[in-house]
Amino acid sequence: MKILIKNATLISMSEKREKIENDKDIKIEDSKIIEIGKNLKEDADKIMDATGKIVMPGFINTHSHVPMSIFRETVDGYNLQDWLNKKIWPMEDKLTNQDIYEASLLSFLEMIETGTTTINDMYFMTEEIIKAAKVSKIRLQTSKTLMGQNDEAGKQRIQELEKLLNTYEGKDERITFNIGIHGLYTSSRDYIKQCVHFAKERNLPIHLHFCENTKEVEDIKNAYNATPIQVLEQEFTGQKLILAHCVKLTKEEIERLKNLKVSISHCPVSNLKLGCGIANIFEMVKQGINVTLGTDGQGSGSNLDLFETMKYTALLQKGIQEDATLLPAYEVLKMATINGAKALGLESKIGSLEVGKKADLIVLDLQNNAVTNPINDLCSDIVYNAKGSNVMTTIINGEVVMENRKVCYPKQEIYEKCKKIIERIQ
Ligand SMILES: [Zn+2]
Repeated sequence: MKILIKNATLISMSEKREKIENDKDIKIEDSKIIEIGKNLKEDADKIMDATGKIVMPGFINTHSHVPMSIFRETVDGYNLQDWLNKKIWPMEDKLTNQDIYEASLLSFLEMIETGTTTINDMYFMTEEIIKAAKVSKIRLQTSKTLMGQNDEAGKQRIQELEKLLNTYEGKDERITFNIGIHGLYTSSRDYIKQCVHFAKERNLPIHLHFCENTKEVEDIKNAYNATPIQVLEQEFTGQKLILAHCVKLTKEEIERLKNLKVSISHCPVSNLKLGCGIANIFEMVKQGINVTLGTDGQGSGSNLDLFETMKYTALLQKGIQEDATLLPAYEVLKMATINGAKALGLESKIGSLEVGKKADLIVLDLQNNAVTNPINDLCSDIVYNAKGSNVMTTIINGEVVMENRKVCYPKQEIYEKCKKIIERIQ
């Protein structure tokens, strides 16, 4: 199948190309981009006119808990630990395989409608999430969450993850894996050692909640007799890491992070909503650390719309640092695209639009909205004014999953099923 997108304004996010290019055609064959240029030969099965529209890479959400769509807006009035202990964990105990599948479909629909083509997930009953991802045709990096002690139950969790990897790894190019460890505060040092050993054996990155709030940092200090950053240095050296949050780090600790193989998943909406604080992303960027964007699960992050996350990211840093020159819009777009691909080890395949890379892209319409007109600075207009609803078309791995806002999803059925799940388990 060949697709030709014509006359687009292209923001490829490729270092080899101009930031913004006008009147570009993009040709896709099967899963890949095969040509980018002007007036390309119209030898495609499907031709899409993108005159006046923007084509850019689909967004990459580097921290989420996919089935948590059903927990949207259950958090108001709780802090992190109370919300987990009193609300989320008791409800999660009641979830069935089918619930996980339905709840995942809702998240994947939300992604497609808001322009995200890849998501990094940390949850359980992962087979159901994978099943839903295949049906939705989205790109997923996932795991089966590890947490606890180095006892029989802990060992069994690693065995289950191993079984999952043996069954699914390398079978579908859209489904990749990492080793999801819930957090240092929910695992013992002994168990962490086992998990890191396993990650090294499988040559996979580790995805970890890290320094989300003050209480977490205190709990880690008490349990490990070391600061969180010391635990990283002691147990994770040489290991590729995706650290979600990193809110409670001093400047000196951020400098030390530089010596580890880390990417940060910045989740400002979740951090604000749970009253955790604001991560010092500016300092991380200054230190050359790879900063990416995440939403967290909708329970704390409200939704999966990365446009919202981009806006919060830029505004918060300018505000807390009292410097309007920080984080230009293009830098923020990088966080939502190519930086995310690097974090997931997928930068040779996705994150920018280049010949030979996978066709994971979105078509934006900023022309027909009062809120985005006039377009004086295109990248700023995308970061500050565009919404998920400006995404007209979403293509993943060369497949059109939304065209002119039409998806092939039984949307009402999914909404109804998810409503019933939360009513049952609450
Ligand atoms: Zn999280």
